[in-house]
Amino acid sequence: LATLLDDPSLLKTQGYVNGAWIDGDTGTFEVTNPARGDVIAEVADLSRAQVGTAIDAAYAAQKEWASWTGKERAQALRKWFDLMMANQKDLGTILTAEQGKPLNEAVGEIAYGASFIEFFGEEAKRVYGETIPGHQRDKRITVMKQPIGVAASITPWNFPNAMITRKAAPALAAGCAFVARPASETPLSAIALAVLAERAGIPAGVFNVVPSSSASEVGKEFCENPKVRKITFTGSTEVGRILLRQAADQVMKCSMELGGNAPFIVFDDADLDAAVEGAIMCKFRNNGQTCVCANRIYVQAGVYDAFAEKLKAAVARMKVGDGLEEGTDLGPLITTEAIEKVQQHIADAKSKGAEVILGGGDVLQGAGNFIEPTIVTGATRDMLFSTDETFGPLAPLFKFETEDDVIELANDTIFGLASYFYAKDLSRVYKVAEALEYGIVGVNTGIISTEVAPFGGVKQSGLGREGSHHGIEDFLEMKYVCMSV
Ligand code: ADP
Repeated sequence: LATLLDDPSLLKTQGYVNGAWIDGDTGTFEVTNPARGDVIAEVADLSRAQVGTAIDAAYAAQKEWASWTGKERAQALRKWFDLMMANQKDLGTILTAEQGKPLNEAVGEIAYGASFIEFFGEEAKRVYGETIPGHQRDKRITVMKQPIGVAASITPWNFPNAMITRKAAPALAAGCAFVARPASETPLSAIALAVLAERAGIPAGVFNVVPSSSASEVGKEFCENPKVRKITFTGSTEVGRILLRQAADQVMKCSMELGGNAPFIVFDDADLDAAVEGAIMCKFRNNGQTCVCANRIYVQAGVYDAFAEKLKAAVARMKVGDGLEEGTDLGPLITTEAIEKVQQHIADAKSKGAEVILGGGDVLQGAGNFIEPTIVTGATRDMLFSTDETFGPLAPLFKFETEDDVIELANDTIFGLASYFYAKDLSRVYKVAEALEYGIVGVNTGIISTEVAPFGGVKQSGLGREGSHHGIEDFLEMKYVCMSV
């Protein structure tokens, strides 16, 4: 892997704690390339005590960092952003090697990840308080916004770079110090971020990366250590619930970006070609492994067959392969368990009457976790994907008759992260956008992620928002000062 990089020094395997590179007290753990099945790195496996040391360092560094002016923090973050963009290709290569997504998507993720650092650096200057007219003649009321303190993150493998920057950037901008525990499948991207943070002059202790093979140990340390004041998590609803329970003992502030089960609705007045293009981007980006990927595709009866045909033709053209090879559209899945889940969803749908019109979930040749993309028609609400996120390249097509029917179907889930629909009628667009119980609605588009908008879910998809000027609020406390004059 190092030979593919212009700057091999970005490829490190140690933890980054208090501005120093450290080995793990628990030894190392392996990182595998999901496209080839070979081990690409042995990464420091930090013990719970070492995570505690990182928290101590963050705690000690935070007050000084918070005393920097917003502009000073902005300048450091800007340097970090510039370094990420200057090393975009290398960071993308590292990301593809450990995660599998096609290189162009990985390079795109680096730009997306960096955009949070740029955006929140700018926001650091705009953490405005408030002056409220007093409630008595001698009273003056001021509201200040202050950093929460030490924030700790646990993030997944599907966006090894951006899920960290989306949290660390607003935290650092607000004046918090940060301890990041990357997914054990994809720690190299996080470590590379630390290399660049160090080069950017982010002070020791302000940004720490603690790789560990034991997520639950780190999760406990984060929740039980009284120096941590905020936990920010992206991952499954299941693990989110565990962390919320653990965080309850210290009444710790929590941001949770949890699972989704995104509906993608095509109405009969939609531009079908645009809808197919949107469905491809939305369903197959990262090979279906995003929490905003379309999981249930609802198509109105009048255009159902036409949409299915067009989607089939488009998916049939997609090339499955190693993300580092030119022309790859769909990389491997992250693990063999991920493949089994997709196969289980296909088998379940078939047993309940669905028809496979493309693919079928066969594993493709080679050592990597490759599976063919699949489309099924005749999907119904009793099939597994109606309640459970597939997280892979399976597109189930449901047929619906009326607007009311599809709204009811789309909302029939415990999740509420992203939703999408294609339609032209303006009153329909308004009505459906209002009726969908989701934190995000894409109208005539399959791509909704940007640093300037608030990303987050309702219902069991999460708490809090990431991105936009709202994103920094999750790392700030309000303090009300009442003055008698
Ligand atoms: P995903 O399906 O996206 O991997 P998970 O919720 O399983 O979702 O994992 C998200 C992150 O949470 C990963 O980094 C994983 O290692 C971590 N994790 C898993 N179990 C726990 C736990 N009990 N406590 C804290 N973190 C956990």
